Amino acid sequence: MISDACREVGKYACSRYGCHAVSAILTEMGGMCVEHASPLLFPIQEFIYGSYRPWFVAWEFMRPHEEQARRNHGQQTLARLAERGGLSAGEALAAVLGRSQYEPREPADAKEELLRMFNAWKLSKAAVVAGVEG
Ligand SMILES: [Zn+2]
Repeated sequence: MISDACREVGKYACSRYGCHAVSAILTEMGGMCVEHASPLLFPIQEFIYGSYRPWFVAWEFMRPHEEQARRNHGQQTLARLAERGGLSAGEALAAVLGRSQYEPREPADAKEELLRMFNAWKLSKAAVVAGVEG
């Protein structure tokens, strides 16, 4: 018997009860297929040659920064912003850092910095799960 927490992405079925698709994305609920993971992921806008190619951070990573995101975006909720395609990396960073805006030296900086913070957050979560924090 494998608990949800032990499911590994790509190895086991989606954590959603009754779904037999292979898990593709690790979420706060365990590994899930793309369809069931989507509500748990927040889209970061990226445009490649003018076409919208979002990538994702965990909703749980953005959730504590909802207030700042609302202040920065006319009181729209994270859910509303996600429906509208998410935030740019710079906009997401501003919210996470508690600022009204983020000014990168060049466009790639914002994505790099957001990924760095997201990866650090994922590592801190993993440490808590493994009981090695503090
Ligand atoms: Zn599924």
